[in-house]
Amino acid sequence: MTSSSSLPIVLCISGHDPSGGAGLQADIEAVAAQGAHALGIITALTCQDTDNVRRVKAVATALLAEQLELLLADCRINAIKIGLLGDADQIPAICAAIERCSVPVVLDPVLRAGGGGALTDAATARALLEELLPRATIATPNAAEARRLAPGAADNAACAEVLLRRGCHNVLITGGDEPTPDVVNGWYRDGATPQLFRWPRLAGGYHGAGCTLAAALAARLAIGEDLAVALQQAQGYVHGCLERALRIGQGRRIPDRLGDLRKGHT
Ligand code: PLP
Repeated sequence: MTSSSSLPIVLCISGHDPSGGAGLQADIEAVAAQGAHALGIITALTCQDTDNVRRVKAVATALLAEQLELLLADCRINAIKIGLLGDADQIPAICAAIERCSVPVVLDPVLRAGGGGALTDAATARALLEELLPRATIATPNAAEARRLAPGAADNAACAEVLLRRGCHNVLITGGDEPTPDVVNGWYRDGATPQLFRWPRLAGGYHGAGCTLAAALAARLAIGEDLAVALQQAQGYVHGCLERALRIGQGRRIPDRLGDLRKGHT
């Protein structure tokens, strides 16, 4: 068992989703479920429900930078997870935090909600590509996000190639949003054959699966697993969360990230 003095710490830099399905709440739950602790920096407040996003309001960069400053001075961070960004102005402060920590970075390039609502403007997406991607250990776009970040690329492998050329070491393109019988997630890296992970497709749509995967992956890297193991474990964890997904509203179900903790209370 991990003693509290060696509890792995994940710095989560994400938006807040008040439904609790996605965003920072997803990160905190997923990180805790792997046995790590989440530090939570909010980049944006959102107005949304389990169906779709209506509005995103960025947090002031000075506030975000001050929070990073305090926590980086105080805590020993073992991995960083980056989700929704508020705006392009926030990116230099986030890059500076990455440089200071020198730990694995999981970048979830959140562009659009599963319900179709826009989450990230074009200037922020461009800055993400130019500034954050080269500093990421792994980026975890879904297939639609990969196509938006690599316009014109013929297929997932070509999208991954464009992202890898930006300096990111690994790309996991997830296929939960694709019309394939199974969910196929592809791990692409420089000079290696892509590894495909195949998961039985579960019925229905889910809200917050991508955030859950990226946060669980960051926690597993924080714990010290190597990337191949962390990828397998994090995907298995998400699949389990989706198998017992919770209906908390009228839209999509949310991953049950704390299933074991809930036992005896429902
Ligand atoms: N809201 C926030 C704050 C998010 O970070 C994300 C996804 O990362 C979403 C909403 C959208 O989640 P989904 O596409 O699963 O609905």
